[in-house]
Amino acid sequence: MTEIVPTGWTYASAPESREIVRIADRYGHFVGGEWLEAAETYETIAPRDEEVLAAVGQGTQADVDRAVAAARGAYADGWSSLPGSERAKYLFRIARLLQERSREFAVLESLNGGKPIKESRDVDLPLAAAHFFYYAGWADKLEYAFPNRRPKAIGVAGQIIPWNFPLLMLAWKIAPAIACGNTVVLKPAETTPLTALLFCDVLRQAELPAGVVNIVTGDGRTGAAIVEHEDVDKIAFTGSTEVGKAIQRELAGSGKKLTLELGGKAANIVFDDAALDQAVEGIVNGIYFNQGHVCCAGSRLFVQESVYEPLVAKLKRRLATLRVGDPLDKNTDVGAINSAAQLEKIRELVASGEEEGAEIYQPPCTLPEQGYWFAPTVFTNVAQSYRIAQEEIFGPVLSVLTFRTPDEAVEKANNTPYGLSAGVWTEKGSRILWMAQRLRAGVVWANTYNRFDPTSPFGGYKESGFGREGGRHGLEPYLDFEESEAFGG
Ligand code: NDP
Repeated sequence: MTEIVPTGWTYASAPESREIVRIADRYGHFVGGEWLEAAETYETIAPRDEEVLAAVGQGTQADVDRAVAAARGAYADGWSSLPGSERAKYLFRIARLLQERSREFAVLESLNGGKPIKESRDVDLPLAAAHFFYYAGWADKLEYAFPNRRPKAIGVAGQIIPWNFPLLMLAWKIAPAIACGNTVVLKPAETTPLTALLFCDVLRQAELPAGVVNIVTGDGRTGAAIVEHEDVDKIAFTGSTEVGKAIQRELAGSGKKLTLELGGKAANIVFDDAALDQAVEGIVNGIYFNQGHVCCAGSRLFVQESVYEPLVAKLKRRLATLRVGDPLDKNTDVGAINSAAQLEKIRELVASGEEEGAEIYQPPCTLPEQGYWFAPTVFTNVAQSYRIAQEEIFGPVLSVLTFRTPDEAVEKANNTPYGLSAGVWTEKGSRILWMAQRLRAGVVWANTYNRFDPTSPFGGYKESGFGREGGRHGLEPYLDFEESEAFGG
């Protein structure tokens, strides 16, 4: 086995200034184009050092009622009947404003969520803007997207998003909804509300008509109030499978439309003919990107037995070079864990891995004393039955397993209640296609991982949810269709 060589030198810090962002002491809810004073608030913090950043509204039933009424009013009062080409202009404006203000948003995203600035700067922000650009392009072409089906808006969409990609998930939800002529009530996650609140300023700059987008902050109770609201026509949810199931039960028989984007336990599969150095980069990106707080993270690595030893040695060497630390430092590869609760969950699952008999490896790295931190972790000697091979850890923790034949790889990869994503590493094109046909996963990446594009639909099978976001497919959940035989529908 190749020896693990610790790096003999360190990087000088390169902090991004937070001066570009102005955070208010207290925020209310954004309803009908105005700030509604919040009766109750809670504190939102920076996970890197637990600094209190602001007091944020804890949305009540009355706040949700007002937001839904504002959304309904805007829907009836012109937004749904506005020509698509006019709606598109607002989406284009929002996209351009996000680009112009991207540094400000990136700093705030890293501060409130803990992700490295180079990720919020180079991934979250460009992709969020790209989603608005992309769906702006569809707004006046819905008839062409669904020929002979007479697409029309649904009404008021309730949208509930998680904390791992706060602004990007907001863009995934709001862009297709308003492009199709719907209005929106969105709740950001309790721990990461600040970029959604800054986004309200972009809406004001873009002069989006009042009430088209309403943002109500708060915890799960606020989310539940949106789900249960009688005047909401559609729910779009991204988050845990547990809450997704509860929402589906709640909505059963209500006639409301529903899309769920839930958890995952993706298989990243490396064959013996793969370019191993390239695969190592993909594995690292697959599981340590955004501290592993990624629903499609490649958290189960399947390695063909003949290359197991060299691959694991290369992986451990690479891990020793990852820089863990301040999310606002431009050198940082792995930032802070999003919350104390998430850190606790990761610790608990990692402890279970050790107890069940897996072998743990963590590179030497000094973690800051304050804030929420977890070292990049690799488990070898993992059996399929272990909790770390079955449950979503949602942290920087990789479980390595092995296989001998392609059939075995498929069988093991599909042995999970989830089905969101997978990765395949091989030089052989025919094998990529063979695998992609058999893996029960919404996305299969070949010789790459965690690649996103607004034109490409994303979503799951089984307990990873249903419905697709992105691409032309992402329009469909926000439309009703008047199917007509005369039109061949
Ligand atoms: P949740 O599913 O609880 O949170 C997702 C969103 O739903 C948040 O806005 C949350 O509010 C809201 N919510 C919570 N309860 C309800 C409810 N009853 N009705 C409506 N909305 C509700 O995820 P957690 O943040 O608790 O994370 C738990 C685990 O879920 C993670 O460890 C991870 O494994 C998984 N997860 C998966 C994600 C994915 O992208 N697939 C994203 C996030 C988490 P609030 O923030 O206040 O809780």
